[in-house]
Amino acid sequence: MNMTASSAHDPSAGFSGCGPLLSSVEDAAKPTRLRILEAVRATGHASRAEVAKSLQISPGTVTSVTAELISAGLLEEFERPYLNSGRGRPPVALRLVSDSHHVVGMKLSDVSHSAVVCDFAGEVRAEASIPRGQSSDGTAQSLLEEAVALFDLVTEAAGLRRSDISALGLGLPGLVDYTTGHVQWSPILTEGPVPLGPDLAARLGLPVTLDNDANLVTLAELWFGAGRAKSDFAVVTIEHGVGMGLVLGNSLFRGAMGLGMELGHTKVQLDGALCRCGQRGCLEAYVADYALVREASTAMQGPLINAAEGVVLGSLYDQAKAGNEAARSIFRRAGRFLALGLANVAHLFDPNLIILSGERMRYDLLYTEEVLAEMRMMSRNTRGRPPVVEVHAWGDKVWARGAAALALTDLTETVVRMEASA
Ligand SMILES: [Zn+2]
Repeated sequence: MNMTASSAHDPSAGFSGCGPLLSSVEDAAKPTRLRILEAVRATGHASRAEVAKSLQISPGTVTSVTAELISAGLLEEFERPYLNSGRGRPPVALRLVSDSHHVVGMKLSDVSHSAVVCDFAGEVRAEASIPRGQSSDGTAQSLLEEAVALFDLVTEAAGLRRSDISALGLGLPGLVDYTTGHVQWSPILTEGPVPLGPDLAARLGLPVTLDNDANLVTLAELWFGAGRAKSDFAVVTIEHGVGMGLVLGNSLFRGAMGLGMELGHTKVQLDGALCRCGQRGCLEAYVADYALVREASTAMQGPLINAAEGVVLGSLYDQAKAGNEAARSIFRRAGRFLALGLANVAHLFDPNLIILSGERMRYDLLYTEEVLAEMRMMSRNTRGRPPVVEVHAWGDKVWARGAAALALTDLTETVVRMEASA
C-alpha cells in the first residue's frame, strides 16, 4: 500500500448533518449554546422555530442564544432557496460556520494508519493514509512520528496548515484510557503504558483525545451511520482482535475507567484456548485472526507453517471458498463462537441493533445466515424477538471519521465554554 491523500470537499453537494439525532440524559445538563450547536449540526441546518421545537425551549431564548453564537462566528444565517415560494422574503435558516474550526480524526493500526480532516459541521474535507512504516519498531516514539507525518499529510491535502487544526481525535486497538490519553496496552506497541495522548498534544500544540478503536467505529455509527436514530445499539468489530462499542440511552458507554467493553476477553470456555492476553477461554482466542491461523496451521497442508499471518488467512479463506472441508470447518467453528458471543451481548444489553463492523475479507464466511440463525436461537428471550444484526464492511476511513467525531465533541464543548467566559 502506498501513501495516499485527497481532498473530498464539494461545496455544491448537500450535507444533511451529522451527530446523534436522539437526545440523551446528559443533554439536560448541557449549556443551551451547546445544545443548539449540536441540534443544528445534527440536521445540517434548521430554522430558529425548528430549534425551539426540537429542544423544547422558548423561541425568545433561541433568538438571544443564536445571536451570541452568530456574533462568535460559530453559526450563520442563510436563505433556504428551495423553500422559497417566490413571494416575500425567503425563509432564513441557521447552519454552523463550517470553516470556523477543523479537526483531524485518525486511526492507527498494525497495517496502515488513516486520517480525515473534518470541518466544524462534521463534513469530511480531506482524507489520507500511510502504510505502517517498515522501520517501525513498535515503540511509542516511532508510532508518534508516524502519527505526526500522517497529521501533516492530511492537513496539507485539506489545504490547511498545522495551526488551522483545532483538535485531534485518535484511536488505536487495545486498552486505552480515554480520560488521561494513556495507552495501557496495545497490540501495535511493544511497550506500555505510554502517555501517547499528552505526548502528541505537546508535539502538535493542540488538544488530543484518545480512545479505543472500537469506540470510534461506534461513534461513527452514532454520528454518521445506522445508529444516529437508535437509542441502544452495540458494534462488534473483528479484526486482529474482537472489540465492542456500546451506545446506551443515546450515548457511548465507556465504563468506570474507560476500559470496558472487552468482548474479546469475555470467557466462552473454561480452561479453553490460550488467548494473547495470557488467559484461557477468551472469545478472541476462537474468533480473531490469530485463532484462525492457529487452527489453519494444524488442519491444513502446504508450505504455510512459516508464512505471515495475512498469507495464511488468505489461503485459508480461498480454500474454504473452494470447498475444502477442513478450511470450512474452521470458519464454521469460529462462527459458532461468534454466535455465542453475540447472544451474550443480546442477553446483557437488549440492544435494538447489533452492527458487525470491519473490512476483513472473511466476513462473508464468518457471518453466514447459519451463524446469525444460531445467534438468534441462543438469544431468544421471553419476547422471542432477538435484536437485528447488520454487517457493515466499512474501511478505515470510517474509523477515522469516528475519531473526528470524538474530537468535534470535545472541541464544541470547549468552544462553548470559552465563549461563555469571554
Ligand atoms: Zn483474552
